[in-house]
Amino acid sequence: MNYIPTIGLEIHAELKTKSKMFCSSLNDPQEKHPNVNICPICMGHPGTLPVANKVAIHEVQKVGLALNCTLALFSKFDRKNYFYPDLPKGYQISQYDLPFCSEGYLDIAGKRIRITRIHLEEDAGRLIHPPGADYSLVDFNRAGVPLMELVTEPDITSGQEAMAFAKELQILLRYLAASDANMDKGQMRVEANVSVRPNGQEKLGTKVEVKNLNSFKSVERAIAFEARRQSELLESGQEVIQETRGWDDTKEETFSQREKEDAHYYRYFPEPDLPPFRFTKEEFKALKSEIPELPWQRRERFSREYDLGTSEIEVFVQQKDIGEYFEKVVSELGIDAATEKLQKLIKLASNYIITDLIGILQKASVVGEDFLITPENFAELMLLIEKGEISSPIAKQVLKEMFSKGGDPSIIIEEQGLAQISDTASIQEIAKEIIKSNPKAVEDYKKGKENALQFLVGQLMSKTKGTVHPEAARTILGDILKT
Ligand code: ADP
Ligand code: MG
Repeated sequence: MNYIPTIGLEIHAELKTKSKMFCSSLNDPQEKHPNVNICPICMGHPGTLPVANKVAIHEVQKVGLALNCTLALFSKFDRKNYFYPDLPKGYQISQYDLPFCSEGYLDIAGKRIRITRIHLEEDAGRLIHPPGADYSLVDFNRAGVPLMELVTEPDITSGQEAMAFAKELQILLRYLAASDANMDKGQMRVEANVSVRPNGQEKLGTKVEVKNLNSFKSVERAIAFEARRQSELLESGQEVIQETRGWDDTKEETFSQREKEDAHYYRYFPEPDLPPFRFTKEEFKALKSEIPELPWQRRERFSREYDLGTSEIEVFVQQKDIGEYFEKVVSELGIDAATEKLQKLIKLASNYIITDLIGILQKASVVGEDFLITPENFAELMLLIEKGEISSPIAKQVLKEMFSKGGDPSIIIEEQGLAQISDTASIQEIAKEIIKSNPKAVEDYKKGKENALQFLVGQLMSKTKGTVHPEAARTILGDILKT
C-alpha cells in the first residue's frame, strides 16, 4: 500500500465496584430486570448530591500506575452537557482538563504505544427499541456505573496492532480486578480513530471514528477495512470526510453514521457538586504496593523460569487463575526431583492443564470451593503418569473423576482397578481368556485376517478398562496365537 494507516484508540471499561460512581446503588449493569438498581441520585432528581466512589478512583489510578502514567496530584470532575434520553441529569459527570492519569505507555510486541490520558466518568442508561414498536424503553441500571476512558496517541499502524493493544489492556484490567472487560457484554468498548496518509507525508490525514466494535475481531477488521477504503478514496483523487462510522459485522464494512460537526459543544465546566481532589505521593506509593505481578512481567518470568512454548505461556498469562494454579502444581512437583525430571514433569503438567483440565472446566473456574482438584492431587497424578503407573487415557479418566468428586488419584486408581497391568504373566492370563471366548476372530486371524488381531486387542483393552498397554496386548496376543 502507498498509504500509511494511523490509528488512535478510545477505550471505555466499566469498573467492577460494589456501588455506582456517585451513589450507593448496586453496580450491576448485567441485571436483567430494568430499573431496579437506581436511586434519586443516579436518576438525577433535583436536590440530590453525588459522592465520588473512592474505590473507582483508586482502580483508575492503579491502571494508570501499571501503564506508566503520571498521576495527577490535583484533579477534579467536570460536567459534560448534552441531551439524550438515556442521560437522566442532562449531563454526564466526566473529566476534562485534569484527568486522574496522563502520559503513559503500553508496549505491544516491543513497540511503544503512548497513552494520552485515562479519566473517570459515569456510564449512561440503555435504550431498548422493541422491534416494530413506535416507542422506546429505557433501563437506568447502567446509569451512573463507573466508566474508565483511556485514550491513546495515534501510534498504532494496523488493525492487528490495535487488536493486540485492546487484548493486552483487557488482560491488565482483569489482573488488577478493575473490570471484567468482556467486549461481548459491553464491559469494554473500543472506538478506533483511523486515517491514512501518503507514504512520505509527515502530516496525518483526516480521521474517521469507527464505533460499535463489539469484539477483538471486529476491531481488527474494521480498521483494515477503513484503511483500505480511505486509501482507495485518495488513490482515485477523492477526499476523506471527517465523520463517525459504524461497523456492520455481517457485511464486514463500515457505514456512515454522522458527519462530525466541528467538535460538539459540550459546555464543559467544573462539577460544582463535587470538591476537587488533592492526592499525595504517599497515597500513590500505597496504591503501587497493591499492584500484583503484571501480565507482561508474568510473560517474561514464565519464559525465563519454565521451558514452555510461547502459546502455552500465553494461556497462563491470559488466564490468570490457570497460571496461578499451574505454579501451585509445579511447587507440589518440586519435592526432591532432579532438574531434568522436574522439567519433564512441568511440561507434563502444563499439557494436562491446557489440553485436559481447561477442556473439563469449560465455564467452571480453578478458584473457589467447587473446584475439587487440589494442586497436590494434580501433582500426584502427574507423578503417577511419569512413573508409568497409569496410561494417558486412564489419567484423563482419573482427572474427570477428581474434577467431579475430588480425592487422591492413587485412591481412585486403586478403588476402580485402573492401575497399569505391566507384568507379562498377568497379561498372558487375560489374553488366553480373550482367545478362548472369541473363537471366530481367532479362526479369522489364522486364515490371515490381520483385522482380527486388532479386534482381539480391542476386546482385551475393554476387558481391562485400558489398563494394559495396547502394544503389550498386541504382542502377547500375537505370540500366543502363533504357537
Ligand atoms: P477529537 O477532538 O476529535 O476527539 P482527539 O485529538 O481528542 O480528537 O483524538 C481522539 C483520538 O483520535 C485519539 O486517540 C488520537 O490519538 C486519535 N487521532 C487524532 N488524530 C488522528 C489522526 N489524524 N489519525 C488517526 N487518529 C487520530
Ligand atoms: Mg475525544
